[in-house]
Amino acid sequence: MQRKLNSRLSNKLFFAVMGTAMLLGLLLSVVQIMLDARTARKALEQSTQEILAMMREPATQAAFNLDRIMAQQVVEGLFQNQAVFYAAISIPGEPPLASAFRDKQRIRYRSLMNSIFGQDLSYSLELKGYSPTDNTSIVLYGNLEVSIDPSNAALDFLERSQNLFISGLLQAIFFGSVLYLIFQGLIARPMTTLLGSLEDIDPMRPSQSKLDAPLGHEDDELGAWVHKINDLFKAIEKYNSKRRVAEAHVERLSNYDMLTELPNRNMLLRRIESSIQDANNQNDMFAVLYCALDDFKSVNLLHSYHAGDKLLLMMADRFRSELDPAQTVARVGGDVFAIVLPGLISHYQAADVAQRILDNVRRPFRLDNNTIKVSATIGITMYPHDAATAEQLLKNAENVMQLAKSEGGNRYQFYVANVDQKIRAAKVLEKQLATAVDDGQLELVFQPQVNLLTGEVRGAEALVRWHHPERGLVPPNEFIPLAERTGAIVAIGEWVLQTSCQYLRKWHGLGITHLTISVNVSPVQLHQSDIVNSVRAALEASAVPPHYLVLELTETAVMDNVDSAIRLLKQIKALGVQLAIDDFGTGYSSLSYLKKMPMDEIKIDRTFVQDMLEDPDNGTIVDAIIQLGHSLNLSVIAEGTETLDQIRYLQECECDMAQGYYYSQPLSEAAFIALLQEQRGQIRNATQRAAQSAQTLLNK
Ligand code: C2E
Ligand code: MG
Ligand code: MG
Repeated sequence: MQRKLNSRLSNKLFFAVMGTAMLLGLLLSVVQIMLDARTARKALEQSTQEILAMMREPATQAAFNLDRIMAQQVVEGLFQNQAVFYAAISIPGEPPLASAFRDKQRIRYRSLMNSIFGQDLSYSLELKGYSPTDNTSIVLYGNLEVSIDPSNAALDFLERSQNLFISGLLQAIFFGSVLYLIFQGLIARPMTTLLGSLEDIDPMRPSQSKLDAPLGHEDDELGAWVHKINDLFKAIEKYNSKRRVAEAHVERLSNYDMLTELPNRNMLLRRIESSIQDANNQNDMFAVLYCALDDFKSVNLLHSYHAGDKLLLMMADRFRSELDPAQTVARVGGDVFAIVLPGLISHYQAADVAQRILDNVRRPFRLDNNTIKVSATIGITMYPHDAATAEQLLKNAENVMQLAKSEGGNRYQFYVANVDQKIRAAKVLEKQLATAVDDGQLELVFQPQVNLLTGEVRGAEALVRWHHPERGLVPPNEFIPLAERTGAIVAIGEWVLQTSCQYLRKWHGLGITHLTISVNVSPVQLHQSDIVNSVRAALEASAVPPHYLVLELTETAVMDNVDSAIRLLKQIKALGVQLAIDDFGTGYSSLSYLKKMPMDEIKIDRTFVQDMLEDPDNGTIVDAIIQLGHSLNLSVIAEGTETLDQIRYLQECECDMAQGYYYSQPLSEAAFIALLQEQRGQIRNATQRAAQSAQTLLNK
């Protein structure tokens, strides 16, 4: 752009200046040539007059005396001049006394020259003198006629004209160039520099970079122009910043609530829309909480609208303090707030936040020496389950809030009824679980683990049971995930660990000294508690040799953040306990990491064992896991074995141990001891039987 402009201006300057100079040069040359022509013509006439004047006397003598010889001499004398091509002395009424003629010169541009000098110049001079008879009167003796050819003068003129023309043109070019350079220096170059500086200017903040007047132009019009432009920039920026302030104000008006400065409904809907996109991309969910204050009208009536406003402001602050920056709280009505909770993986998280908000709202407000208590009701919708659009999510949350309010309010409610029931029940359970350990509601059951080669019970897996005061026995699959979510698993896990070790000591005391006990360790325990010290404390309190304690960890527990897990496992291992990977095959164990971990045992997940005989793929997997375990020097135990055929197959594959209903359901401690003592032989026999049939099969 800059170069294009620059070249255009220079070109224009060049053509304008050169054109004008050439035109002027041409005009001047023509005027000079015309003046020269006039001068040349005059000079020719003058020289002719001079010749004639010179010849007047002898010509008059010749005419008076009728002297032909003298007349001839006069004519020849005239012909000495190259320009004369005809000369004659004539006597009136008689033939010429003497005459001569010669051809004119051949020259170029004859017709042009003729137009300037005339075709030829003819002069006739009367030859007069005193009458011989009467000495007083003057009489005409004859005429002297001369014709001049202007060719020579024209040739000189032509040459001079050429020189004049060429020098005129050269002068014009010289002056034109000088002028062009001056203009270029005075106008085009400063303009180019200015254009360059202008291009560096940020249009949004023009006054931040000042335009400098080109060197030497500080005090002329260009300098004044630059000064004006700088003023203009300042004015533009001032206008821009005013406009920005105004726009920001308009933006705030249309997107934010004026009282609390929280986002308004418009903004909230946009945030929900962007949460929808995020949830779709990340394959997770989010919640919309529609939170209305219960009976806010009475605050306005009992106190004042001003107090009501103050309370809303304090409320907004409480909401802000409760939420993190990724979460949005908006004011969508007089006493209604809405909250978006993105990036959730379960409904429980939404329930937790809702509960915290309700508790927070219920905390008394101090307002102008008054204590005001309010409560709120929250309707909760979840994306993607409850609606597909922002509007609908908000609408459904509002509807369920109304429903909850009609039932007394002061609570949260999920949009889908059974989700609501489930969450509510889970929340109740969660509360009760928190005290389950202290209330002595937990119990351990034991499931034997059998050596597949010898048929002996190697040990037992300790499995926790919760005796709920109202619901009876709650299965671990229901309460362990709950406990993991709330962190109660840490206390439960410690209890299991300590109790298991106590039992082990008891059994060893009974003389069953070879028994091991396997204890499940939750991933949460690994991350949240000081597991190394817990294990050490349990071992020390029970004084059992550490290698009789087997800690079962799931693949997922070990596989997220592998390096720190390896470090932790090494510390645990250093206590002398054994480590087993539980539910092996369900996670994404990487062999390279498995090699680095200080494991002793792999437990094949029961989903593979259950249908390994029907599903050849699972059969192959079980076989492969056993081979893999052995190649890594790990012993392999299959869980969930229910039939004799499964035991046989596992024996064929040289699996080390098995655990499952085929041998026994998880048993109470008493039953487990009884089984140990009573059925020890049976288990051995059953296993030996299986081993024999496996051998027979192999032989076949
Ligand atoms: P798990 O560690 O894989 O435990 C094995 C589960 O399989 C036990 O269920 C057991 O009763 C069941 N089982 C054993 N043999 C068979 C069989 O032949 N067929 C079938 N269908 N099932 C069999 P349980 O006791 O309900 O425990 C479930 C899960 O709860 C356990 O899986 C474990 O992950 C967790 N759990 C149990 N007790 C504790 C504990 O004290 N701490 C921790 N963190 N988790 C525990
Ligand atoms: Mg287990
Ligand atoms: Mg398992």
